[in-house]
Amino acid sequence: MQLYELIRRKRDNGRLSDEEIDELVNGFASGKVPEYQMSAMLMAIFFCGMTAEETTALTLAMMNSGDVFDLSGIPGPKVDKHSTGGVGDKVSLILAPLVAACGVKVPMVSGRSLGHTGGTLDKLESIPGLRTDLSFSQFRKNVADTGLCIMGQTKRMCPADRKLYALRDVTATVDSIPLIAASIMSKKLAEGADGLVLDVKTGSGAFMSRTVQARRLARIMIAIGTQLGKRVTALVTDMSEPLGEAIGNSVEVVEAIEALKGRWRADLEEVTLALGEEMLIMAGLATASAQARRLLMRALSRGLGLEKFRKMIGAQGGNPKVIDDYSLLPQSAHRVGVRAASAGFVKSIDALQVGLLGVRVGVGRQNLDSMIDNSAGFLFRRKVGDKVQKDDVIAEVVGSNEDRVRDAASHLPALIVIGGTAPRSNGMVIARLNGSDNCNRRNR
Ligand code: URA
Repeated sequence: MQLYELIRRKRDNGRLSDEEIDELVNGFASGKVPEYQMSAMLMAIFFCGMTAEETTALTLAMMNSGDVFDLSGIPGPKVDKHSTGGVGDKVSLILAPLVAACGVKVPMVSGRSLGHTGGTLDKLESIPGLRTDLSFSQFRKNVADTGLCIMGQTKRMCPADRKLYALRDVTATVDSIPLIAASIMSKKLAEGADGLVLDVKTGSGAFMSRTVQARRLARIMIAIGTQLGKRVTALVTDMSEPLGEAIGNSVEVVEAIEALKGRWRADLEEVTLALGEEMLIMAGLATASAQARRLLMRALSRGLGLEKFRKMIGAQGGNPKVIDDYSLLPQSAHRVGVRAASAGFVKSIDALQVGLLGVRVGVGRQNLDSMIDNSAGFLFRRKVGDKVQKDDVIAEVVGSNEDRVRDAASHLPALIVIGGTAPRSNGMVIARLNGSDNCNRRNR
């Protein structure tokens, strides 16, 4: 393989064959392709994009660089959900048990917080004892016995993606649609589900801040999955303000448990139930949204989702008593309220900046080795559209480090805009896309 020639061709808008992409990815994973040449290739892809065929070949090469789980021996429909990442996005903690309680098997491989976005694994690991570093056989057993399992990517899963992602992170090539699509889909296809429902976020707190980009990302991920024989549906959902009330690890676990007890914010409910409907339809347990919604609401009102979550926590080594006693979760030593400077309506809460401030207070990590504070976070007592009186507490900052909590509380008011009129709400679900939307254009 002439690496120089491949880089030059991609730089000049040419196409790479499936075999060339496979050799490139394997060569990089095994150390034969040096980082300086892979960096040049990534930058060429960043600027020139990839066709749908090239993106699928990249996905396959990364998926096949490691273990591919086989869950075919587990009876029943196996459907997963993946979010492209956001602020306050605790949907998986509610959705996976709720959908599992309706009879869908949910094998979920999730990620950690990085940058301004939160991570499902970090939230789950704030539950004392709970482990997400499971072996494939444990994962398989939990999916078969409990109906769901949420774990982290093993070292042997998509090692080429892990190495490429690290290189993208330091070469300013993360936010490329084909590279994101291939990275996400390689991991999701390796986990062995039959179908996948994507929650592609858009708005300031998302990777794709513009809806047009989010739609494009959704379409290419659907095309990859469909070409590889999986059913994939995507919802494009709003991430311009943090989702729900809490942002942080243990505080989001509490919010998720409250939701499973039927007490949740309208935005969180809308996104979770819309994704749940898609999962139930994909699994063949419902033929229409209204029927799927009825099944979800029945599981919720009977406490079946909550019981699934309790079982999942126990099966992963965690203390299931947290469901009834939140004091068993990491508790913040400090709490500072942020009050409204004037009366009116909350017009906006900047999700990106809240996410970045969250990193400063200890919610997330600057890099993969950073320490996090499981008790830290924000609680938004008022959300966009809510009426406020002067001096009402709009939000609280919590955490174990007093200086950091005070620092975050001093910066938070600038991220919350209060105005004289209520903003118009367009709902949380912006678009629904499935395999019938085609994607033959070059994706940048
Ligand atoms: N999440 C991933 O797994 N990969 C990306 O490239 C971006 C988000």
